[in-house]
Amino acid sequence: MQTTDIQIEPDIGKAVQFQRHFFNSGKTLSVDFRIDQLIKLRKCIVDHEKLILDALNKDLNKSSFEAYATEVGFTLSEIDFTIKKIKKWAKPRKVHTPFLHAIASSRIYPEPYGICLIIAPWNYPFQLIMTPLIGAMAAGNCCILKPSELAENTAAVVSKIVSENFEPEYIKVIEGGIETSQELLEQKFDYIFFTGSTDVGRIVYQAAAKHLTPVTLELGGKSPCIIDQDIHLEYAAKRIAWGKFINAGQTCVAPDYLLIHKNIKERFITEFKTQVESFYGKQPAECSYYPKIINRNHFNRLIDYLQNGNVIFGGENDAEKLYLAPTLLEGVSENDKVMREEIFGPILPVITYDDLEEAIQIAKKNPNPLSLYVFSKNKKVVNKVLDSIPAGGGCVNDTLIHLGTPYLPFGGTGSSGIGAYHGKSSFDTFSHMKGFLHRSNLIDLDIRYAPYKDDKMPALKWLMKKFL
Ligand code: NAD
Repeated sequence: MQTTDIQIEPDIGKAVQFQRHFFNSGKTLSVDFRIDQLIKLRKCIVDHEKLILDALNKDLNKSSFEAYATEVGFTLSEIDFTIKKIKKWAKPRKVHTPFLHAIASSRIYPEPYGICLIIAPWNYPFQLIMTPLIGAMAAGNCCILKPSELAENTAAVVSKIVSENFEPEYIKVIEGGIETSQELLEQKFDYIFFTGSTDVGRIVYQAAAKHLTPVTLELGGKSPCIIDQDIHLEYAAKRIAWGKFINAGQTCVAPDYLLIHKNIKERFITEFKTQVESFYGKQPAECSYYPKIINRNHFNRLIDYLQNGNVIFGGENDAEKLYLAPTLLEGVSENDKVMREEIFGPILPVITYDDLEEAIQIAKKNPNPLSLYVFSKNKKVVNKVLDSIPAGGGCVNDTLIHLGTPYLPFGGTGSSGIGAYHGKSSFDTFSHMKGFLHRSNLIDLDIRYAPYKDDKMPALKWLMKKFL
């Protein structure tokens, strides 16, 4: 997406240098320091709750309920979970040592990378910058945050909260658009965590390669939703409608299109319409809490998709208000743009299938999805789908909520991303796992030392076979 830069930070290089100096002081290595900083972050989010919710409302017309559930509350839960577990996660992890190396013990030491760059998108502009930050802080890193310029009100609040509560040597927000992002990417960071589109993910990966900087790339893609004929009709319709139209479909893991068994299609669509109307009324345009499309470019992109099929529900729109109703689209072909590009809006194409294999083959035509959804009461159907389609993650008989647990790693695979986070996965993502073997001085077997004579081979083979 092309935008002009809002503001170029005068001295990005210096900001990174200051952080490196602070990181090298070793202050962030203390787990108590990390806990104190997380408690401080929690407090300032709670203190600024209204400001954050207002900003999310201005940027995306998110209701307080939706914004709290998916952004502020989500972030606070992640902080609480991290504070509770951090001491355990940060401890050296004892692992087995092969008998071959006796007498010795082995440990993995989680070590912070150093200076991390976190680049965020606009769709969950608060949560998607804060959640990786929590992992980075917990692991003992310093951070530079680049919020999305498209959610400018939220970016300003994030910047205010961070600058008023944290030293810039530790955490700093640098606002700006593509140019700022590119300037940041020229710097040498020790870790880059990027959330955004697959195309920009490629640019970030290339920039990171210049410095051999490790990355997490949380990208997008088309997340299929397969609906078998053996389902709980009401729950399936309700859960799919919720997952698709929350944030007006501008969710990286929203069901992108439906693959539905022909025997259940008509009943499902009737139930789906009933559920959508019960959420947003018969006129979603008048619903105060139905989110808007982020900007005119995205609105126009979405309206173009409506030409790819027949609208069987919704489709009403208003460019001035950036409003697009929850929409069902039928009659799309696999070659249409709406079936090749990530939709990222409230349009849901419906494709019917007769045989499950057909649905699987359609889903597999697009690159590995970020999320995969299957609705069925039949375990064989569920297992067949899970075994056949590689995906970042997903849900069986629900949508989206795999993100809402800190016990599951969240991330993509293939073109939907590299790496994962949430809960312990966040801590591990932002830590280098340093493996060390501690050797005893009690004995020292001669076998590994030269001279390497043939008569030592049987003993070597026996040891390596028996005791690894
Ligand atoms: P985007 O890739 O356009 O922008 C993301 C960030 O990258 C922004 O901060 C932007 O300023 C910066 N950026 C944009 N162009 C750049 C360039 N050429 N060079 C360097 N930096 C650049 O993404 P978006 O439109 O903000 O977000 C939508 C995309 O993000 C969708 O594809 C969606 O699926 C994906 N997404 C993924 C997740 C996830 O967790 N996997 C979550 C939310 C969104």
